Amino acid sequence: MKPMSFDDLKGKVCVITGGAGVLGSTMVRALAAAGLRVAIADINKEVAEQVAADIQAECGSTVIGVEANVLERDSLEKAKAEINEKLGPIDILINGAGGNSPQATTKIEQIEEKDLDHLDDTFYGLQMEGFDRVYALNFKGTLLPTMVFTTDMLKKRKGVVLNISSMNSYKPLTKIPAYSAAKASVNNFTEWLAVHLAKVGIRVNAIAPGFFITHQNRFLVLDEKTGGYSARGQKIVNSTPMGKFGEPEDLQGATLFLLSELSSFITGIVIPVDGGYSAYGGV
Ligand code: NAD
Repeated sequence: MKPMSFDDLKGKVCVITGGAGVLGSTMVRALAAAGLRVAIADINKEVAEQVAADIQAECGSTVIGVEANVLERDSLEKAKAEINEKLGPIDILINGAGGNSPQATTKIEQIEEKDLDHLDDTFYGLQMEGFDRVYALNFKGTLLPTMVFTTDMLKKRKGVVLNISSMNSYKPLTKIPAYSAAKASVNNFTEWLAVHLAKVGIRVNAIAPGFFITHQNRFLVLDEKTGGYSARGQKIVNSTPMGKFGEPEDLQGATLFLLSELSSFITGIVIPVDGGYSAYGGV
């Protein structure tokens, strides 16, 4: 019988892109507590180094911060060389960098008669530059780090990739078409790559977080003036059977499970961590 614990993860080397962010850093805390050695690969080097130092002091495991832009291969290759030198070959990759932006967000949910003479607030007013940036960050920003950071796993015929998707991947939320399309692509790519790598010992899965209040969505779900929920924030809570936003710590269990041997026959799946949002028809 296999050990009923996450002990097999102890000492493994894990790279997490976007690991300096709100959800990413909470995952890093779980990884370090489980005894993994972690490299936070983030475009924001200073914050990555600070988060790494804080978590290392807290948990005792080795955690380093490394500068990496998930959209540039050279930057990723440089980061990999630094990680290999400091921590050794990479066993696990978490693709955590991602997010939305106001430049890829329509101001209104649906076009009505009264909106037809000011289309700037609609799909027709979106700037392709913003759309491209958000789509690339979430999709290409998952694909490219996977190409670079899984080569050590190929040599060992063993490894795990965990992508971070979103509820938007199943049914798009209004206002954020680029982010929704990109996360749907992440689910599709998770399945595709899981099949491609299944015979060389690399598992590929994803988690789809429900709704957590973080930098990327604060402007949409909170009312700046009152500090309470915006109408959209309230709609999300009403659509979540557990009746609340998630806490980042809620992602830790599913993350460790999908990285560990406890999920050794699982590849190509996306686990929602969403308080029941994806199970609920709204009535
Ligand atoms: P965050 O903005 O707090 O963190 C994102 C991190 O990615 C930041 O540290 C940022 O510096 C880094 N980053 C941005 N561009 C980068 C680039 N080009 N290269 C390398 N690093 C880069 O975001 P978060 O809320 O913690 O989200 C983490 C992941 O979870 C994202 O993929 C996001 O789409 C997803 N997600 C978030 C929510 C939510 O409710 N917040 C819900 C579902 C999914």
